[in-house]
Amino acid sequence: MGKYPVYQSPQLDEVEQRLRHLEAQHGYLAGDPRALVTILTEDERTVKALGLSHEAIAHRLRVLTEAAKQALGGPVVLENLWRVVVQDFRGRLPCPWGHSGLYPKTHVVVERLDTGETLQWTDLSIHLIEAHGFYQGVGSPYRLDPQKVASICSITPE
Ligand SMILES: [Zn+2]
Repeated sequence: MGKYPVYQSPQLDEVEQRLRHLEAQHGYLAGDPRALVTILTEDERTVKALGLSHEAIAHRLRVLTEAAKQALGGPVVLENLWRVVVQDFRGRLPCPWGHSGLYPKTHVVVERLDTGETLQWTDLSIHLIEAHGFYQGVGSPYRLDPQKVASICSITPE
């Protein structure tokens, strides 16, 4: 399987089954009947149209996460534009793609102060974007619509 697949391979079928099986717990594909490869390719197209890359988006989310972690659980205001809160939950999550290793259940909420828009993600969400170009299903509470992420987090092409 290539890094960002362009067709629904048997391996991707397995990943999709795993994601749908975990749906009750994590909502990865909640409310999204599209095949996983379709979700991946449509989000990839959006990211490219924005002149961005999965890596650039993941990097920005990581920078905001790390800045907020310095605040030790309290909310922090960054650049007068974002209020960010990081909560650590006990336990770790595996990558549904079957990567080895576990991702901390760090939960991040960002509120954009000028528009009131909010986004939330976890360390695993960042990995799913960076390694798999996966922004989760349209009905997922952790859906990170690339266009919305770019606008809320002010991610612009280099
Ligand atoms: Zn992975």
